[in-house]
Amino acid sequence: MPHHDLIVIGAGPGGYVAAIRAAQLGKNVACIEKEPMLGGTCLRVGCIPSKALLESSHLYEQASHGWKDRGIAVSKVQLDLQTMLDHKQQVVNTLGGGIEGLFKKHKVTRYAGHASFEEPGRVIVKASDGEQELTADHILIATGSSVASLPGVDIDEDRIVSSTGALSFAEVPKHLIVIGAGYIGLEMGTVWRRLGSQVTVLEYLDRILPGMDSQVAKEAQKIFTKQGLEFRLGCRVEGVSINRKGCEVMIDGQESVQGDRVLVAVGRRPNTTGLNLESINVEATDRGFVTVDDHFETSQSGVFAIGDVIGGAMLAHKAEEEGIACVEQLYTGYGHVNHDNIPGVCYTEPEIATVGKSEEALKEEGRSYRKGQFPFLANGRARASGHMEGFVKILADEQTDRVLGVHIIGAHAGELIAECASAMEFGASSEDIARCCHAHPTLAETVKEAALAVDGRAIHF
Ligand code: NAD
Repeated sequence: MPHHDLIVIGAGPGGYVAAIRAAQLGKNVACIEKEPMLGGTCLRVGCIPSKALLESSHLYEQASHGWKDRGIAVSKVQLDLQTMLDHKQQVVNTLGGGIEGLFKKHKVTRYAGHASFEEPGRVIVKASDGEQELTADHILIATGSSVASLPGVDIDEDRIVSSTGALSFAEVPKHLIVIGAGYIGLEMGTVWRRLGSQVTVLEYLDRILPGMDSQVAKEAQKIFTKQGLEFRLGCRVEGVSINRKGCEVMIDGQESVQGDRVLVAVGRRPNTTGLNLESINVEATDRGFVTVDDHFETSQSGVFAIGDVIGGAMLAHKAEEEGIACVEQLYTGYGHVNHDNIPGVCYTEPEIATVGKSEEALKEEGRSYRKGQFPFLANGRARASGHMEGFVKILADEQTDRVLGVHIIGAHAGELIAECASAMEFGASSEDIARCCHAHPTLAETVKEAALAVDGRAIHF
């Protein structure tokens, strides 16, 4: 029976990164994955394919409407959806092959099949061509999450789709109804709106992007409405039925909505089914998330868990950090994730990016803070590139000036937030950011100016 120092179950961004890091630390590592392609939801049917479609649909929209005021006339822009989908798949396949190459380079042994525990240090891998038992000193559960649905809504990935089906519609839907105004609803709603769909977003809460700073979320809703997304807030979807005309979405206490495709984007749930965790006494919360201690160890000694399956922000980069911290802690004695400093990015246009505390969270904590805000329309590079929407907001402690949160809605916000996350990790004050030289003309100057604005001394606004 093959024995390894570490077995990682799941080759998503949490699992494959942890496997590589453990191999770098000299360990004999195996990774078990049930899908033919490595990379998990993020690579196969999540972050990467959605970004490929967001980029392509953005180019299509720009070419269709965007450049007349720059003196560039384009005639007869045509959509070849199949080629756009093929390009997306090529990107995914190339990156999947890349992870296989990394496993070979680091001598991580890959097992294909579904893993389940026999006992704490022993798993069985079931594949279509048979079963195999493996043992290990340590086992890391990195099985991620899957799409959650709603009672009364049966996802068939044809008419009623999850994010997976919404990445591969064979035709542009005439009217796409999106349930949920979170990351997936807004990103995929944006893709299909750009390609020609009428898009209606139904959201249970009275706001979009729950958890995000509400000033930023309000601005986002204003901008997306102008772009053509229709929002209906305060709508609790109770079911979807399929009829001759398409799909009818039933809403509690309100008139139903009729469309031809429905995207369900109401969150995700942890993947623990079939792992046989009960037999090894691994505890989970009421909602099924595996519980772990500060070192990512479960209630069963020698069994660890990281990423979506333990809850918290369901983000690829959070899982990666946890995977690395878990194996470093295990093999070097040091490893830590600062969960207060995990950036989040919504890849719409403009992008929305956030790190640290929102204004509401600070108010709730009763913490006094100062706020500096700077609009993109006052930035030279933003003007030159025609990206004037949005702002950068920096929140800093009133007494110490330490940066507590940064919230950006604007062009390339997802790139700009990296500087802010780094600064916060080093415990920077807004004055520290304000005194760092930022190249001119760049969008990054908006971050410097927002930092100056905390002290009321922005130069260009
Ligand atoms: P989400 O939790 O971000 O948003 C779900 C939304 O659905 C919420 O606003 C919720 O109020 C609403 N909702 C729930 N029940 C409803 C009902 N019955 N009727 C109407 N609205 C309802 O979830 P998501 O967008 O599905 O994304 C899933 C996970 O994937 C999230 O944790 C997200 O962070 C992650 N993700 C991240 C990115 C990114 O980083 N860019 C992209 C996609 C997904």
